[in-house]
Amino acid sequence: MSGQDFFHQGDRVAVLTAQPLDRLLDYRAPEGGCFRGAFVEVPLGPRKVLGVIWGNGGGDFDSAKLRSVIRVLDVAPMREEMRQFLGKAGDYTLTPMHAMLRLATRAPGLSDPPSMRKILRLGDNPPERMTDARTKVLAVMEEFGGLAFTSRELAEMADVTPSVVKGLVKQGALREEETPRDLPYPHLDPDLPSKDLTQDQAAAAAALAEGVQSGAYGTTLLKGVTGSGKTEVYLEAVAACLRKGRQALVLLPEIALTAEFLKRVEQRFGATPAEWHSGATMTERRRVWRMVGQGNAQLVIGARSALFLPFRDLGLIIVDEEHDGSYKQDEGVLYNARDMAVLRAAMCSAQVVLASATPSLETWANAEAGKYKRVDLTARFGTAVLPQMRAVDMRAEDLAPATWISPTLKQAMRLRMERGEQSLLFLNRRGFAPVTICRACGSQVACDHCDARMVEHRFMKRLMCHQCGETKPVPETCPSCQVEGKMAPVGPGIERLGEEAAALFPQARIAVLSSDLFGSARALKARIEDIAAGEADIILGTQLVAKGHNFPLLTLVGVIDADLGLQGSDLRAGERSFQLMRQVAGRAGRAERAGEALMQTFQPEHPVIRAILSGDEEKFWRAEAEQRRQAGVPPFGRMAGIILSGSDLAQVFDLGNALARNDGPLRQVGAQLFGPAPAPIARVRGRHRVRLLIKADKGVPLQEALARWTAPFKMKGDLRLNIDIDPQNFF
Ligand code: ADP
Ligand code: ZN
Repeated sequence: MSGQDFFHQGDRVAVLTAQPLDRLLDYRAPEGGCFRGAFVEVPLGPRKVLGVIWGNGGGDFDSAKLRSVIRVLDVAPMREEMRQFLGKAGDYTLTPMHAMLRLATRAPGLSDPPSMRKILRLGDNPPERMTDARTKVLAVMEEFGGLAFTSRELAEMADVTPSVVKGLVKQGALREEETPRDLPYPHLDPDLPSKDLTQDQAAAAAALAEGVQSGAYGTTLLKGVTGSGKTEVYLEAVAACLRKGRQALVLLPEIALTAEFLKRVEQRFGATPAEWHSGATMTERRRVWRMVGQGNAQLVIGARSALFLPFRDLGLIIVDEEHDGSYKQDEGVLYNARDMAVLRAAMCSAQVVLASATPSLETWANAEAGKYKRVDLTARFGTAVLPQMRAVDMRAEDLAPATWISPTLKQAMRLRMERGEQSLLFLNRRGFAPVTICRACGSQVACDHCDARMVEHRFMKRLMCHQCGETKPVPETCPSCQVEGKMAPVGPGIERLGEEAAALFPQARIAVLSSDLFGSARALKARIEDIAAGEADIILGTQLVAKGHNFPLLTLVGVIDADLGLQGSDLRAGERSFQLMRQVAGRAGRAERAGEALMQTFQPEHPVIRAILSGDEEKFWRAEAEQRRQAGVPPFGRMAGIILSGSDLAQVFDLGNALARNDGPLRQVGAQLFGPAPAPIARVRGRHRVRLLIKADKGVPLQEALARWTAPFKMKGDLRLNIDIDPQNFF
């Protein structure tokens, strides 16, 4: 980017807004002028909208009609590196700039003046008449008077009614004062004592700290089995970053953002860091956004979108559980936060640490190729050892119909019950039963709007579509053949497994953990903490239990269907299954008691199952990498998915065929086009879905070719075209 950095009143400036327009808008700089990057309010038609001064105005818009920027907002201007990051991330994901700006301004009230709140100070007039309640209030003020309390907080702390505080204000014993609501975050002290690291851990921490001290860009894979102390180690990298006076960001999958984790950070640095996630209140969000921009938040713990916060001087990004699928945003702007973290760090000379027990193949390959450094932690901390892993060959087990817990697994669970330890049964299927079938005609209940079967949720007493969320009652009569009383659930879901476990162990306390059984993420997290404290004997969980929770009493993991992830045409099926099984198994034996993991499978000789059992991870990755190299697929080749959707199937296919016929720009770069074909889930929410897949060699300018290819096609009616670079899901 070139051009001047300050614009005088009346100069022509180009402004980027978050409005869905395909260009910058020209305005005149406001009274007092403005810097490039300033957040401003501009008139657009009858409205006032948020924008950023992007550069010199140069449009051919009639200068006589140019309107003026209304005002410059009282927030830190967008930094040059942030503008570059948004531009590059937008180019990479083929996302228009207005949508990128929207991502970067996801905090409410940015145009509002800094909001104030009333706090209390000790006044000059002692109260005429003392009461016990008044004495308590004044005692709190004496002790903590340096801190700022609102009257409600003060009443709470002194354990009196608000009217007592009000009375003291009236008398002048307390006085009200206005202060800005968005206060800086408390100072974090990197020099508080850390835990005594083991030799391995200390070496790993030193390697990461060295990167941070260099002040240059670099990415490191921190690989270590669950419980090896990755968190302890990367917190030392955070400490090094804070010592340098730069800011740090720790990204976690949303569900791993627990109170337990924040407590650990607080213990290390003596105060709580800023938090950014979907559960944060609007006020918290605004405070984080503003304070990060002013440099008054040293550390942010956040979910994926925290990457777009306006850090003033970002020196370190940790991506914990870097393989986690939730880093890929699958709606709106399709970006992978792990990859964008690397891009952002490169723009601002920061370090990235990708932490995982089971890295993605992409990251593993980047480390192999020397693009990333790699640091390994091989042992679990303390006496904890990795669980014994064994396959349960289901062909040799004797199971009653409609039951899924094998005698071998049951025996192992009984042993845990006797010892007062916990067992975890893992099944990645929500609901009671995946299929509801009519035993008279054999037809299955499907969603009316999607190409998907309805899943019975007994807890809600309804059938539910996992694509669109539509529900309906479980029918008494078959919708197809009208025969009554023949509808039956087929197959296991986590709720049904809960019934089976309860029947086997009537005296056990059973906890079912499935995201849909909890009203909020907070409620779920609270439940997980209770369980960790020992309030369950048998835990049943879907995918979400695989993520970073610590259950000290857990010594047995039973994987109900280890074959589940191996089916399907997804190129990452093997990798995902491998990661998930190892993560789940890693839940067992994290404290001093040894753990065991039993995997129920009908194909114990499958290469992925064998790799999981053997524990030879490098061998698995090498084999998996070799297969992908030969197929020329990521990370050794490039891929992009195109999803076309619309309510009229013929129209959607016509568009797909037209795209396929006019693929000149793709052929010019040697890219191959597959499709159009119905997407694996061919209808969602009443919209038909057709997909095309593009494969190209690693070095080709694919985005540019895709943009040239798709640009001439105008979307008629409700037709939509979405481009997914590096698709992770093929649904
Ligand atoms: P990971 O992130 O690799 O799963 P953690 O950092 O969470 O591992 O460590 C696992 C457990 O062991 C945690 O309870 C942690 O506090 C403890 N731990 C790890 N290293 C040490 C150490 N050097 N001293 C004391 N406790 C440790
Ligand atoms: Zn549906």
